[in-house]
Amino acid sequence: MNFEFTEEQKMLRRTVRDFVDKEIMPNIAEWDRKGTFDPKIMDKLANLGLMGVCIPEEYGGSGMDYNSLAIVCEELERGDTAFRTAVSVHTGLNSMALLQWANEEQKQKYLVPQAKGEKIGAFGLTEPGAGSDVVSLQSTAVKEGNYYILNGQKTWISLCDVADHFLVFAYTDPKKKHYGISAFIVERTFEGFSSKATEGKLGIRAGNTGELFFDDMKVPKENLLGEEGEGFKIAMSALDNGRFTVAAGAVGQIMACIEASTDYCHERETFGKPIGKHQLVQQMIANMEAGYQMSRLLVYRAGELKNKGVRNTRETSLAKWQATEFANKAANDAVQIHGAYGYSDEYPVERYLRNSKAPVIYEGTSEIHTIMQAEYVLGYREDKPLNKMLPAWEEK
Ligand SMILES: Cc1cc2nc3c(=O)[nH]c(=O)nc-3n(C[C@H](O)[C@H](O)[C@H](O)COP(=O)(O)OP(=O)(O)OC[C@H]3O[C@@H](n4cnc5c(N)ncnc54)[C@H](O)[C@@H]3O)c2cc1C
Repeated sequence: MNFEFTEEQKMLRRTVRDFVDKEIMPNIAEWDRKGTFDPKIMDKLANLGLMGVCIPEEYGGSGMDYNSLAIVCEELERGDTAFRTAVSVHTGLNSMALLQWANEEQKQKYLVPQAKGEKIGAFGLTEPGAGSDVVSLQSTAVKEGNYYILNGQKTWISLCDVADHFLVFAYTDPKKKHYGISAFIVERTFEGFSSKATEGKLGIRAGNTGELFFDDMKVPKENLLGEEGEGFKIAMSALDNGRFTVAAGAVGQIMACIEASTDYCHERETFGKPIGKHQLVQQMIANMEAGYQMSRLLVYRAGELKNKGVRNTRETSLAKWQATEFANKAANDAVQIHGAYGYSDEYPVERYLRNSKAPVIYEGTSEIHTIMQAEYVLGYREDKPLNKMLPAWEEK
């Protein structure tokens, strides 16, 4: 076991932190209030090599290890959940799935420009009638000559209006349930594709989330990812990577809560002393610290398994469940510590509280992860190596 960050990882953290402090922090309150997503941030992240940090250099990425992706997510979410969510869907759910499942031609065409940040990727699984219960999805893909004709609708898709490429899941054979779903690489420019942002979100307001529509959309047969019927497996393995980034982001959210709360504890006085001297306030700070440290350990353990090329569904699920719950609790306590001031956007903690709710819902709700963890312990669930695993990290 090695709990030390490498010099390269320390430098990466400093780079992202500096970027967040300069580019996100001064603007985020306004972006959040206006509900605007600034795509220029993605270009700037790309210039820093952060849109494909853990993708091998031969595919246009920075070639760093999977825990370096965790560092990027932690630091980005310290700024705002919207930008970590963008990296989660672009790198975690899309590019890493291509790295794992795509053939060489697909990697060259789609993964390389995504890893360089020239094109943005997103992930379309959820539908109006199918969230946790993926098998209930209604989208269909019918093979006609050299194309699949896709019809259906996706909802709650992050970067719906921003992404160039989408990983989309649809039934090629509905009778086969789990084994009848297939995965497709879809371009925004395909005829029959349209998207529409969702208004009135509780949090992640600086992020772009919404619906995708496929109306007799023609997808070239070369854009089938994996084999027909492998879509469910591909979606679940993509979630192993997406959940890892969500868990890491939650660590950054707790970090932001600790920073804001400790500043306020020193600044605000009641009953003749700084509120940080009151034991009940200290209890909230101590719980944040405990959540932060425990979450980090869970995240980096999952990252280490990814580095070794070992299946980590169980460990990643636990990290995602616990870290997002800790972050939601930390954000709630951060508002409490700020008293009435925490209830206004004069301080960032009300945004943290609103932002911390989606991560306990997306990429497997806390209830789904609770069930998964119980099933592992009870012996009802067991993971076997997949026919295509996420490649282990190779140090160059
Ligand atoms: C901001 C945001 C961004 C998102 N981005 C994306 C994206 O980019 N791509 C994408 O595909 N999706 C995305 N999603 C969708 C997200 O993944 C789903 O919302 C999530 O999977 C839950 O599905 P649902 O909302 O349909 O809830 P449901 O599945 O309808 O669940 C409703 C409630 O029932 C509970 N429940 C369901 N089944 C069980 C069970 N078996 N046992 C116990 N309780 C259960 C749930 O835990 C929940 O409390 C996003 C969501 C949000 C909020």
